[in-house]
Amino acid sequence: MKDLRGKRISILGAVRSGVGAARLAKKVGAIPFVSDVAPEEKLKDVLYILKQENIEYETGGHTGKVYGADFIVTSPGVPSDSTVLQLAKEKGIDVVSEIEFASWFCKGKIIAITGTNGKTTTTTLCAHVLNSAGKTCYLAGNIGKAFSDIVMDVKENEFVALEVSSFQLDFIKNFKPDISVLLNITPDHLNRYNNDFNLYIKSKMRIFENQTTNEHLIYNFDDEIVKRIVAESKTALIPFSIKENPGTGVVLDKKKIVFLSEDTAEEVCDLGELSLKGEHNLMNSMAVIGIAKTLGIENKIIKKALGNFEGVEHRLELVRELNGVKFINDSKATNIDSVWYALRSFESGIYLILGGQDKGNDYNRIKNLVKERVKKIYAIGSSAEKIYGFFKEIVPVEIVNNFDECVSKARNEASPGSVVLLSPACASFDMFRNYEERGKFFKEAVNKLK
Ligand code: ADP
Repeated sequence: MKDLRGKRISILGAVRSGVGAARLAKKVGAIPFVSDVAPEEKLKDVLYILKQENIEYETGGHTGKVYGADFIVTSPGVPSDSTVLQLAKEKGIDVVSEIEFASWFCKGKIIAITGTNGKTTTTTLCAHVLNSAGKTCYLAGNIGKAFSDIVMDVKENEFVALEVSSFQLDFIKNFKPDISVLLNITPDHLNRYNNDFNLYIKSKMRIFENQTTNEHLIYNFDDEIVKRIVAESKTALIPFSIKENPGTGVVLDKKKIVFLSEDTAEEVCDLGELSLKGEHNLMNSMAVIGIAKTLGIENKIIKKALGNFEGVEHRLELVRELNGVKFINDSKATNIDSVWYALRSFESGIYLILGGQDKGNDYNRIKNLVKERVKKIYAIGSSAEKIYGFFKEIVPVEIVNNFDECVSKARNEASPGSVVLLSPACASFDMFRNYEERGKFFKEAVNKLK
């Protein structure tokens, strides 16, 4: 544990992780100073916590005081090419991310989960399985609390399931998970990486850069990029695959999930016993089996926990079934790849709601699936015209203004056995505060239907 007593720490971003870092800094005897570019007005939900704890802060811009620190803790929302980080670099001030900072104080074992999609689902499922096995596992990162907020509570024989984004990995130094998980890598957030996919891949690779032969890395053997980059890792590798048999790891044998070690093959559960549906969730579940087996958890406990997991809100969440039509909220599908998996989860008769703030989407990835399974697209938000233009020759497309309009149209048009699926492929910020609010509005519109 580092001795930071009396050290000055500037924290960029008065967000959840920034506030967590500031409190942790104070707890360990350092002197935190929080700085954010947003106006006071926008941040009042979190600033009151800083006031309560007597933590100094500034809003509306970063002043010179930021650079008077021994080091800086930055939040995931601060772009790496921002002036404040550039200046810090010029002045030779160390910059670390919040997970790096919190990890200095972690006595327990860290299970760090990253990937373009599936982080929240897998992290939540991991904590569920470990807790079901009688272990104590905290849920932290993007989901649950900030790592900094819980780290001092974690005891030596306890665990933290940590959801880790590429932005958090961009500023690590010594961060070393006991178990790391790489779920998949597909293009996303490229605006933050100079439109360079390789930079994004490099960032994800950092999850295992400090791991040695004493740790473990669980990875998706079916993802060509992931498979290629893990060759550079020095740690113990545990693959999972739904397509092939890599020789060890978590594999499929007909309809069973099997864990292969060097000399044994153990049946963990039947495919039908998993509570989470869809191919993508099968992969997430297999990753968690890899974690559980590494920790020596018994198969019957793993099987039970995978069977009674309730899922995570806004991820292929069944809102309601009305006259045989299922309404599904997948508001968290903010990129093309997650929509691809959503479409693969339903065989046909899909009424798809697409749209929102475009992140440079290339809809070719889902074109064939749309042709095969989608009956109609409702296009919404600032990218509605782009969606209309791309899909109009393939399926009927209608531009709609809001969820009430869209849901009542879909209800009249969809026949029993169909699915009305909000899986927007876009960010939500054109119409909503975040994807949670978008999902909530969708669910309200669905629940209002008589
Ligand atoms: P993240 O935290 O990485 O954004 P989530 O678990 O919140 O991941 O899921 C985000 C979206 O991606 C949801 O629409 C979900 O259905 C989909 N998804 C979940 N797991 C995967 C996966 N392994 N591969 C592709 N898409 C996935």
